[in-house]
Amino acid sequence: MDYTNSPIQKITFNNQEVFIKRDDLLHKDFSGNKARKFFYFLKNDFDNITKVISSGSSQSNAMYSLSVLCKLKNWEFDYYVDHIAPFIKTNPVGNYKEALKNGMSIIEKQIPEELFQNKDKNTLVIPEGGALKEAAYGIKILADEIINWAVDANIKDLKIFLPSGTGTTALYLQKYLPFEVITCACVGDEEYLEKQFSFLEKENHPKILSLEKKYHFGKPYKEFYEIHKELKKQTDIEFDLLYDSKGWLCVNKYFDNSKSTILYIHQGGLLGNISMLQRYKYKYDKIT
Ligand SMILES: *Cc1c(COP(=O)(O)O)cnc(C)c1O
Repeated sequence: MDYTNSPIQKITFNNQEVFIKRDDLLHKDFSGNKARKFFYFLKNDFDNITKVISSGSSQSNAMYSLSVLCKLKNWEFDYYVDHIAPFIKTNPVGNYKEALKNGMSIIEKQIPEELFQNKDKNTLVIPEGGALKEAAYGIKILADEIINWAVDANIKDLKIFLPSGTGTTALYLQKYLPFEVITCACVGDEEYLEKQFSFLEKENHPKILSLEKKYHFGKPYKEFYEIHKELKKQTDIEFDLLYDSKGWLCVNKYFDNSKSTILYIHQGGLLGNISMLQRYKYKYDKIT
């Protein structure tokens, strides 16, 4: 298993034909865009490294993928979270549960600023969500897979769509692809996403689409749940609830009857759905 070459499949959703790059199927444990972003650390040798340190939320997809990476590399993994909800502590699910099983040490406090100076040559400090330059390495491989597919299928007018958190995946895809990359902001607003792009690259930024309604990251919205269920029904593919639901609302709004060929990147994150689905079912289906 080399963690590359995910399949591309054609679906029809709400009468719009879309190709899906199934990065959720890259590998059983190391998949989605986090596998692409951390591929550099998997593939290269780091003889002096014994530990990875990162921070973020207790349900993060990046946290889980780092726990897999550390297990494969035999590295320790320290993960800082500001706060863990008591019900997660007593009843771990999804990313948190599996990351603990992989040996993650959880530290419930703010990550000390001085760690980012990283004076210790035995530790790797990974910014929240994997927003780092090294991510370019694995995302270039993803871009090359897309280029090869488009050449083989003789597709010239191709548009790539993927929803963004830190925007790292969309940004590096745009850097390495000769096609337009289009995204939407799921974690902060459009201004935040533009700023995130600028931290990593001065120019050649993806295009950002927006919806009228403002959504807060991680909150359950009825229309997110509805489109998630509808996607499953029409395409038999499970998409992530935090990013893809908003992503598909954008696809529906902007690519209705598109003349260009659309390629949607499925960035994984399905382990994170377990805890979100519990919340959705509780809130909208009244199932406990
Ligand atoms: C992390 C993640 C994203 C966001 O990726 P960025 O590179 O931070 O924009 C999108 N979708 C899923 C499923 C993710 O896990």
